[in-house]
Parts: sequence; C-alpha cells; structure tokens
Amino acid sequence: MARLTQADLVDLNSTFEQRTPDELIQWSKSIFGERVAAISAMQRSGNILCHMLHRILPEMKVLFVDTGVLFEETLETRDRMVKEYGLNVVTLSPKQTMAEQTADLGVLYLSVDGQKQCCDLRKTQPLLEVADDYDAILGSLRRSDGGNRAACPILAVDPATNTLRVNPMVNLSDEELDAYEKENDVIIHPLHAQGFPTVGCNRCTTPVMPEEPRRAGRWRHLGPWSVYCGINPTDLSPDTSPAIDLPLDLVDRILGRETDFMI
Ligand code: SF4
Repeated sequence: MARLTQADLVDLNSTFEQRTPDELIQWSKSIFGERVAAISAMQRSGNILCHMLHRILPEMKVLFVDTGVLFEETLETRDRMVKEYGLNVVTLSPKQTMAEQTADLGVLYLSVDGQKQCCDLRKTQPLLEVADDYDAILGSLRRSDGGNRAACPILAVDPATNTLRVNPMVNLSDEELDAYEKENDVIIHPLHAQGFPTVGCNRCTTPVMPEEPRRAGRWRHLGPWSVYCGINPTDLSPDTSPAIDLPLDLVDRILGRETDFMI
C-alpha cells in the first residue's frame, strides 16, 4: 500500500482544471475500472451527473443513500434514472428504520448534536458499509454552489471512506448547468420547481424564500449553523493533511507515473 495525500494531488488538480466533465469521468474509469462509482442524492447537479453517465458510461454504479425519510419525489427521480437512462443505481439504506431509530434513541434530528448522529447513522454509515468496494467516488459538487464548496478541488482524498473523491463538475457555472439541462432535456428532481433549491430528508428540508440563501431550507429548525450533512468530505472544515492508503500501483496510475494511463 502507499499513502496518497491531498498535497500529492496539487499538480494533477492544476492540470485537471482545463479538463471537461466528460474527460474527468473517463479518466476515472480508466484509472479505477470497476472500483469507481458515482454518488447522487438525485438533486439537480446529481441529475446532470447521471445524464453524463447515461451518455458515456451507463454501466457505472450510482450510489444512492435512501435514508428512509426522503421525499416521494426523490425516490421517483431515482426510479426514472433507472428506467429512462438505464443507470445502474445501487440503493444504500441505514440499518434501522426511522421508527426503530426513534424508539431506541429519540427524535435525533430536533437537536444540534442529534442531527449529527442522525446524519451519520442514516447517510454516512450506509456509505461506509460499501466503501471497501471502491477506490474512488464521483460526486457532483460545484464551486458555484458557494460556501465551503467554492474552493472544492477536482480530486480530494476522503479519509473516512479511504477513497479518492472526484468532482468532475466543479467548474460548471450555473449558466453552463442550465444550458446542459436544456440541451439534453435532463430529468430533474421536480421539487426544485416548487421552491426547494436543494432537497434532503423530508424531516429536515423546507422550501426557501426568494431572498434567502439557497441552502436556508436545510435544517432550518436548528438555526443557520448547519448547512451540510457531512457525507461530502470537502463540505466540512478543511482538513489540512488528509491522506488515504491505496495499492502502490494504483497511486502510480493516479499520479501519472505509468505513462499508459496518462491523458
Ligand atoms: S437530514 Fe435530518 S432526518 Fe435526514 S439523516 Fe440528517 S438529521 Fe436525520
């Protein structure tokens, strides 16, 4: 095994700034083969990522965490991705239903500490259960989303899952996302057209007033401190020295030390 740090990726990230999302998706497949999957919560950016996979790599697995308390429209969007785009969506679930969890631990999402525990149990843990099957996970974060995402790197190491997070869409602007959606008539989560700029669990998501920040509807009942669940590592306070351990030959391929894999 060899250690890969965020610092090791500085040069590669710099080179990748000029790459298109399609090129970055194809690079991921060429490097990681069967050990790369995408992740989507079936929100708009994730819908666009799903469409990109539909066009160029429909066989790639798409991980979808069903917390058991999602909006019906979210599940319907997932089902449309399978039926109409032929995507290989893998639904991950927490160990307990929300009713079982509440019977054991109480209504966690009504307190600041409880929300962290609930998101860990219902979002992060299901992903960790399958993390050993993957060396890389493709996400749909964009710098245009602002907040902690404004500085999101294309390649980020995720110590929690010991995977490389690949964010092929980070440089897509809002205008480019709009244009892609229109040109390709992408299936979009229907609640975005009903006052929900972002959509999470039905317990913790509300519509957003026009003058509010776009993530104001997430955990509104807990106050403005909480705007991310933590399933995306770069959403949290940046760790200055994250590292993951991967097979040496894979680290060589990632860093372009094996010329066959360079693009
Ligand atoms: S968003 Fe709310 S209901 Fe969903 S996992 Fe997090 S705290 Fe629990």
